[in-house]
Amino acid sequence: KLVSREFKQEDTVVDVSGILIGGNHLAVMAGPCAVESRDQLLQSAFIVKEAGAQFLRGGAYKPRTSPYAFQGLEEDGLKMLAEAREKTGLKIVTEVVDAESVPVVSAYADMLQIGSRNMQNFQLLKTVGKTNKPVLLKRGLSATINEWLNAAEYIMSEGNYNVVLCERGIRTYEEYTRNTLDLSAVAAVKDISHLPIIVDPSHGTGRWKLVRPMARAGIAAGADGLMVEVHPNPAEALSDGKQSLTPENFELMMQEVKIIAKVM
Ligand code: PEP
Ligand code: MN
Repeated sequence: KLVSREFKQEDTVVDVSGILIGGNHLAVMAGPCAVESRDQLLQSAFIVKEAGAQFLRGGAYKPRTSPYAFQGLEEDGLKMLAEAREKTGLKIVTEVVDAESVPVVSAYADMLQIGSRNMQNFQLLKTVGKTNKPVLLKRGLSATINEWLNAAEYIMSEGNYNVVLCERGIRTYEEYTRNTLDLSAVAAVKDISHLPIIVDPSHGTGRWKLVRPMARAGIAAGADGLMVEVHPNPAEALSDGKQSLTPENFELMMQEVKIIAKVM
């Protein structure tokens, strides 16, 4: 298989508009769960840039559990992301939720995010596989490591080898945390695949207090980077405020993980 260490021994390094993910580079993608407004997004962008992130995250198309919850600003949101890139130099990673919107999201983003709920949307995987955009493939809520790597294989088999995996927690019987962050998957993926892997401690725990410790643990486990939700005012976030870091806590997290990354 194309994803396997047998196929390729050396670690893959994915180049996203000049920023490298994999190898000895610590990649940090941070920003709000959703793009809510121009002000909210630009504020978030300056905050995460200042703290040392290289990527701005933020959903313009939101796969919400309830159809009555905020669904995202769609193309207007993508335009705000592009403006934030212009103003900060941050690279943009944002979710694409269906095959039809791959062209419009690709026109604005540096990296296409495939969300957990879409990890086995094989049509979407094949469609992004036919582009040359780097892809961030989040682990399905109930996907085994093998199913996840097969999803990556779908993208690579179409010719797009620029795939980065993201462990974001899986469903277990535990309810205190939103998901159970499976850090053993990081070590396992490193063993059996050459693809870079990052950790999302925000969706992985659902609680902001657990995000810094799990970010540190993710890097210590060998992850190539992090995806973290940060909001200028988490209490007022339209989605995932409970798991979003304040600017101050994100700054602390960055200082901590840089130290750990240096000794890894
Ligand atoms: C996200 O990162 O915006 C998101 C919706 O996460 P997940 O797909 O992991 O639930
Ligand atoms: Mn979110």
